[in-house]
Amino acid sequence: MGRIVGIDLGTTNSVIGVLEAGRPFVIANAEGSRTTPSVIGYTKGSELVVGQQARRQLVLNPRNTFSNLKRFVGRFWDELDESSLNVPYTVRANDQGCVRVTCPITEREYAPEELIGSVIRKLIDDAEKHLDENIDSAVITVPAYFNDSQRQATKDAALLAGIKVQRILNEPTAAALAYGFDKSSSSRVLVFDLGGGTFDISLLRISNGVFDVKATSGDTQLGGNDFDQKIVDWLADNFEKEHDIDLRRDRQSLQRLSEAAEKAKQELSGINSTPISLPFIATGPNGPLHIETTLERKHFESLCKDLIDRLLKPVEIALGDSGWTADEINDVVLVGGSTRMPMVQQLVKTIVPVPPSQSVNPDEVVAIGAAVQGGILTGELRDLLLNDVTPLSLGLETVGGLMKVLIPRNTPIPVRQADVFSTSQANQSSVEINVWQGERQLASDNKSLGRFRLSGIPPAPRGVPQVQVAFDIDANGLLQVSATDRTTGRKQSVSINGGSNMNEDEVNKLINEAKEKADSDRRKRASIDQKNNALTLVAQAERRLRDVSLEFGPYGAERQQRAVEVSLRDVQDFLENDDLAELDIAVSALQEALFGLNRRVSAEKRIDNNPIQGIKNTFGSLKDELFSDDYWDDDPWDYQPNSRGANSDYIDREKDRWDNDFYN
Ligand code: AMP
Repeated sequence: MGRIVGIDLGTTNSVIGVLEAGRPFVIANAEGSRTTPSVIGYTKGSELVVGQQARRQLVLNPRNTFSNLKRFVGRFWDELDESSLNVPYTVRANDQGCVRVTCPITEREYAPEELIGSVIRKLIDDAEKHLDENIDSAVITVPAYFNDSQRQATKDAALLAGIKVQRILNEPTAAALAYGFDKSSSSRVLVFDLGGGTFDISLLRISNGVFDVKATSGDTQLGGNDFDQKIVDWLADNFEKEHDIDLRRDRQSLQRLSEAAEKAKQELSGINSTPISLPFIATGPNGPLHIETTLERKHFESLCKDLIDRLLKPVEIALGDSGWTADEINDVVLVGGSTRMPMVQQLVKTIVPVPPSQSVNPDEVVAIGAAVQGGILTGELRDLLLNDVTPLSLGLETVGGLMKVLIPRNTPIPVRQADVFSTSQANQSSVEINVWQGERQLASDNKSLGRFRLSGIPPAPRGVPQVQVAFDIDANGLLQVSATDRTTGRKQSVSINGGSNMNEDEVNKLINEAKEKADSDRRKRASIDQKNNALTLVAQAERRLRDVSLEFGPYGAERQQRAVEVSLRDVQDFLENDDLAELDIAVSALQEALFGLNRRVSAEKRIDNNPIQGIKNTFGSLKDELFSDDYWDDDPWDYQPNSRGANSDYIDREKDRWDNDFYN
């Protein structure tokens, strides 16, 4: 089995890690950064940009730049809350009630997972370049509290990026793996994971390489974005009061507000008060309007009281489910950039009176854990065992719309659970199996994962037929349901993906499209790289020519300078004519010519710097001869036709002597 990378697909940033000689490490992206913004955009020329490049165009091109998409993954339109829709791009529901993102520049609608697939692709491309090998498999992390549809949709995103998902791993479990994989002691650990858009809490027992998740809980619609939104609303409300203009209605202003809010929030993690300056944010009847204000940490914290309260509930639920008390927790691991906020750290301290572990980097720990899981799956890491749980209860809808739970939340996975159901009417020939996930008593208050019908039940009085329904949850937390009529043995099973934003046909269509486009994309990318490299070389050559002329005069290394100039012109001509086949040859010639020039220059310097000046002077005439064009004619890097002079043997001998006598 090839290498399996670990991907932390975050709401705000994503990170990729891998195992190298048994140790996990984070791979920097092509821009040299260890985290890649989870932002995707299309430029004015319809070119796809991902990561930092896309982030840079957030303000100037807000309708074609998409961030925070993780909140939409695997969710139906009517499940979204108001705050998720507060984005500068257009989100709408399609005919099936699935979330679609509109991109005006490409005149297309995208499923969120399709766009997120581009982030995965970029991470993989950069990792392939770094490792110099192909990667086709990954462990991808998701919030522990993601339901089946969100997990399935994440898997679809990876499929669209051409990546096989070897394991869907819960983020806090990944963090615990990173924290404890090289520790031998036994401890009870609380992982508190507050990222950009989601919140997870997990309780684990780690003992001699065995990771037992005891309970998990969270909120997939609560994260750093909500704290930013508090500042955005504060700024926008004050501005509206003063100028009667709602800045949130203008996409560019909203994007500028969001960026300033996030910056202020992050600064307030280190200092008590921060200035916020947004010049020319709007235009009023008397000209441009600006925001110039200061936000105190205390005031920010008072704006966020309800969010802090929302963090408490899942912790209480997880502690209750685990059967542990807060005093029994030995270690606290903080994960996600939002745990840097002092008010969040204070809250954690009030729950568990143990100082949080400082040994993990909250931005990278999840990807590191995913890389460790990749190592477990390939067999590179042994003696580690991971026992995770399912975050939410799974069940069926029964008479009266009630939810009958088959697998309660926090059941260790993989798991199989079956129960027998019957008909509610006489001679009923089929039953509908309606699968739900959630904690509410009424099925319709939970999340519907899908429905299917088992038909062909022989006529019988009400309650007589016996239909066995079995739920299988695999190690990824993904569900498979089967129903068997015990009388006829008739069986029907389905993978549940009713809640995914894309149906199987759509996913397959996009995968085929991507395959068809992959070759042309690769060619396009290669030609862009080729031209960029040629341009870099042209700039280098121009600089070198200038430097050499300044140092040695226009005739100092005339022959070599001319060679560079000729090749340089060739490269520029082929670049201008877009002749890529000839460009490659011209680039090689220019490299050779530059190499020749550099050799010549360093030889000049060697002679000039030789301390034995007297001797050098004695050989002055020889030096002139050596550095005449004739001498260099048959150098391997000189591509000019050989026109060796009659005294060449003498010069070769003398050159050897020169080298041996004075330079060795
Ligand atoms: P993650 O998903 O772990 O990359 O977390 C991203 C979130 O962490 C974003 O909402 C960031 O604004 C937030 N964040 C990063 N650094 C800080 C900080 N120093 N203080 C407060 N929030 C931060």
